Amino acid sequence: AKGSISASGFKDFLLKPELLQATVDCGFEHPSEVQHACLPQAMLGTDVLCQAKSGMGKTAVFVLACLQNLEVSKTAVQVLVVCHTRELAFQIELEFKRLGKNLQGLKTGSVFGGQPLEKDKELLKDSRCPHIVVGTPGRVLQLAKDKILKLDGLSTFVLDECDRCIDQLDLRRDVQQIFIRTPKKKQVMMFSATLSADTRDICKKFMQGPHEITVDESKLTLHGLLQYYIRLEERQKNKKLFDLLDMLEFNQVVIFVKTVRRAMALDGLLQDHQFPSMTLHPMPKAFAHKAKKGDVLTADSSRIERLQAFKAFKKRILVATDLFGRGMDVEKVNIVINYDMPEDSDMYLHRVGRAGRFGTKGLAITFSATEEDQQARRS
Ligand code: ADP
Ligand code: MG
Repeated sequence: AKGSISASGFKDFLLKPELLQATVDCGFEHPSEVQHACLPQAMLGTDVLCQAKSGMGKTAVFVLACLQNLEVSKTAVQVLVVCHTRELAFQIELEFKRLGKNLQGLKTGSVFGGQPLEKDKELLKDSRCPHIVVGTPGRVLQLAKDKILKLDGLSTFVLDECDRCIDQLDLRRDVQQIFIRTPKKKQVMMFSATLSADTRDICKKFMQGPHEITVDESKLTLHGLLQYYIRLEERQKNKKLFDLLDMLEFNQVVIFVKTVRRAMALDGLLQDHQFPSMTLHPMPKAFAHKAKKGDVLTADSSRIERLQAFKAFKKRILVATDLFGRGMDVEKVNIVINYDMPEDSDMYLHRVGRAGRFGTKGLAITFSATEEDQQARRS
């Protein structure tokens, strides 16, 4: 049964009726802490720098604020969202579609590497130009440089997983280059679950008097998530993994490994043992060179298709690299296994945040094999 609007905790935000109805249709009953803390300011056009734990609905903060302030009658890219992977870009576009479904005439688009440029040219044609564009830094910059993506009508710039985009220097350079191509007067919003003091300072250089929201460290632990470590030798990992998969009851599980090669190997092994497994990782360079140009495009664009298949519950086990570690939201994932230790505690938080989204119960199991791993755990 559909919830009633009058009972919705979102009504206090004074959202447009079309948006309020969409939150009800999406089953959002109560705004989360971060939504309470950020949405009112974001809707007023204030710059926002927001750090809040995984799975708490940061996306809806900027999606709702952007949709609230957008002028559907104006044909121009008014909102640009930049994030670090194409999967996340795609997912964010879906959230815009879902929450914007009652706004007549709303157009969205996503752009990222691995897709033919022609497709983007078609998408961004003046006559049908989307109001909202979500994309990865490299492709957005290329399109902006080539004047295919016109940014002079932009009113809001959003950077999701901002520490990732700022800390990695080539991404930061792209973001800066995109930024200088946008109008001076605009709203800037940035979001992440993790944000060091240094990165925070750099982020603020892009903003004017931002509304800063930080969930203090102690709250960053993920409530409702049980976390276990298993000490073992590298060669014991497969046996242990198979035992766990046999023993545990799970809806969907994500297994993180440290390299693409290991992802492919482990996925193969699981399939050989009749586990319903699939894998998601960037295209290895070795393959990209060998394949013909057309092949690469197919292999690359199918990353989105594979992600969609996993979300549609076609497979219950996903073997992934850290590509999938941040931001991705798959409702049915309730177990995360770190087959290989994450590189640092931030990545750990991002990865295990894939289980137990929006306060549902989840389980995280981490294999710890080497001396180094033990140290990482302590730090
Ligand atoms: P974050 O970016 O903070 O890690 P997401 O924005 O990906 O989290 O949100 C996680 C999930 O919670 C999504 O499926 C989203 O649709 C859902 N969600 C967001 N806000 C609410 C709400 N107020 N009530 C219920 N579910 C929500
Ligand atoms: Mg997010």
